[in-house]
Amino acid sequence: MATMTQSGEKESDMTGPREAKNLIAGEWKDAASGARFDSVNPANTQEVVGTAPDSDERDVDAAVRAAKAAFPAWSKLSWVRRGEILDNFAQLIKRDTEAMSRLVTRECGKPINEGRADVIESLHMVQFAAALGRLPIGECISSEIPEKDAYIRRKPKGVVACISPWNFPMAIPLWEMTPSLVSGNTVVLKPSEETPICADYLFRLMAEAGFPPGVINIVHGQGETAGAPLVAHPDVDVVLFTGSYQVGKIVQRQAAAEAHKFVATEMGGKNALIVLDDADLNIAVPAALLSAFKTSGQRCVTSNRLIVDRKLVDRFQEQFLEMVDRIKIGDGLREDVFMGPLINDGGVKKFLHHNAKAKEEGATVLRDGGALTDGDYANGHFVKPFVYRMEYRPNTFCLREEAFSPHVAIIPVDGVEQAVEVYNDTDYGLAMAVVTEDYRKWRYVRDHADYGLGYVNLPSIGAEVHLPFGGVKNSGNGHPSAEGLIDAVTHRTAFTVNHAREIVMAQGLSTKI
Ligand code: NAD
Repeated sequence: MATMTQSGEKESDMTGPREAKNLIAGEWKDAASGARFDSVNPANTQEVVGTAPDSDERDVDAAVRAAKAAFPAWSKLSWVRRGEILDNFAQLIKRDTEAMSRLVTRECGKPINEGRADVIESLHMVQFAAALGRLPIGECISSEIPEKDAYIRRKPKGVVACISPWNFPMAIPLWEMTPSLVSGNTVVLKPSEETPICADYLFRLMAEAGFPPGVINIVHGQGETAGAPLVAHPDVDVVLFTGSYQVGKIVQRQAAAEAHKFVATEMGGKNALIVLDDADLNIAVPAALLSAFKTSGQRCVTSNRLIVDRKLVDRFQEQFLEMVDRIKIGDGLREDVFMGPLINDGGVKKFLHHNAKAKEEGATVLRDGGALTDGDYANGHFVKPFVYRMEYRPNTFCLREEAFSPHVAIIPVDGVEQAVEVYNDTDYGLAMAVVTEDYRKWRYVRDHADYGLGYVNLPSIGAEVHLPFGGVKNSGNGHPSAEGLIDAVTHRTAFTVNHAREIVMAQGLSTKI
């Protein structure tokens, strides 16, 4: 078993395979079946980053029972005390930032600057939740009757099941878990089967930080055999899901089968950068590059669509392609790499499928993408950017469906109204960015486009934990992550106290008996 990484620990200690375990009721455990699965480096699939328990409903049941048993004592602690334990956790993330960042890159392929950003965002999330422990939570408000005091209090809901994707393997589990924990819930995490070792690292730090047994539980495994029984478990009160729309809608249906169960789903996107006729190309071109190709196009907020005013589309296209041709592709541990591999073979297949569909649908191909399979690329899931130009037609597959890869369309439009019409022609509504110098135009986009995250003169990517993060339509069901999740994991209860010696009711209701 790999030992906890301390700052200054030798690099060699971090590069051997790590053996993840489930944490249930404070004990590190294998799956009841004894089965394990490998997690490999997508830049070099011959490197096993670690192995993890392949859990089933027995492990899930044990974890949910542990979380349920720990709830009464944990929820009785003050917000301040729970915040202090989160603060211990924050100190440990600071200590291990570099080792954690390298692990993110090795396990999910993101370039190291993105691995670091994932860990820094994790730290910010833990700091934010810890700080909530000392902020005024709840309200005291005046009643209609002067002798009464009315309070709005936040009560934890109980056991929170957290299901996370692979692309932010440190930050997203913490978006879900930390607001839940500080407000007094207990949690069971089912992390992505692509990144179990990152999740294991987080849990080893959380155990070291002093969370009592049963308050934090993790069950590794596959979606159908570990995720589905967690969503279905009758003792789970809240499900926080982040992942694809295809799985999110299954999770929503399953959770809706039980009346008391609440589900928040954060799902995919078919985002866009809109470049209007007065745009500064010094902003528009790099913003387009960052929106389309950061994380190799595998962010929920990735822009697969660049909607560009016809008046400047040719100049934009020329400068954009010049930058695309300078992108360095390779193992993300190299500091000069801009694009790492895709996560797995399925990701490559999806990329190639979307590219083929675009060709079928009449795309003018500008850069032909394709898989990279020779030399340094031979053992990884590397691909080149696919860039095309296409006149807009409603209901076009490649302009409407999430590709989750470096697949990007340049779509010429005439004016801001058409730009928004094209932007809205998808069932998703997550992230939108607009590049313009004209406040009337960005205001038009702000008020007419469907999105949860809007940006002006910026790329469509980027999150700060003290802002809600989420989308509309098929991108989310209205319960954004990070800061936004406090509302999902607490009940706002009304509590009224009478200080008079008689009963006086609101609305003039008679008390005569
Ligand atoms: P995914 O939907 O394949 O998996 C997400 C999680 O769900 C994994 O832990 C998986 O094991 C689990 N799962 C799978 N089937 C399940 C089932 N039947 N019941 C319960 N759990 C199940 O997504 P992914 O490939 O890990 O991540 C990529 C997707 O996530 C993209 O669509 C991306 O846009 C989206 N995403 C959204 C956000 C957001 O905040 N909106 C953030 C990151 C990623």
